[in-house]
Amino acid sequence: MSTRTLSVDSRLYAYILETWLREPAPLPALRAETAGIPGAGMQISPEQGQFLSLLVELTGARRAIEIGTFTGYSALSIARALPADGTLICCDVREDWTAVARRYWAEAGLADRIDLRLAPAADTLDALIAEGQAGTFDFAFIDADKTNYGLYYERGLELLRPGGLMAVDNVLWAGAVANDLDRSDDTCAIRDLNETMGRDERVSVALVPIGDGLTLARKR
Ligand code: CA
Repeated sequence: MSTRTLSVDSRLYAYILETWLREPAPLPALRAETAGIPGAGMQISPEQGQFLSLLVELTGARRAIEIGTFTGYSALSIARALPADGTLICCDVREDWTAVARRYWAEAGLADRIDLRLAPAADTLDALIAEGQAGTFDFAFIDADKTNYGLYYERGLELLRPGGLMAVDNVLWAGAVANDLDRSDDTCAIRDLNETMGRDERVSVALVPIGDGLTLARKR
């Protein structure tokens, strides 16, 4: 019997990857290249990428949006699970990071499914809403600057259709969210969103302790 989530040590993590990880090309090469880039820790873990792919398959999503693209690993994980006529809008502000992403999206033959918007995500989200795209997205992934998490959640929820799924990354923040003494801006922003989502009647919600913690929320 288990009443709590197991801690995953290095040995068990290696077993998890060895047993279940499916990471088709060019994802391993993208992961290797990103490891040499400052900020590499912002990349999602490979089993998280695999999980995002499965979520997209499960929801049958055709229209997806990602807030925070970095070098494109999560976008590739989402886009490859979309149908051929599916689209993923990616929001990021960094030309250098997303140049790496674009190379791998092209290599994967998925560049035509991905629409990168190089601008502050809040501007892109507001523009989509102004264009009348609220309620039209099937899937949203939030993994960007933490102090704007609350805003991204609200805008993302507006863009999702009823029944659409949102995934929010880094919600455990290496455990810092449970440390009352940690009052840093990032920790407080994540903690605030966690409290909001935990009681938000507009969504069905569950925490998945994969990677640094992923909250799943289905819009009602
Ligand atoms: Ca992340």
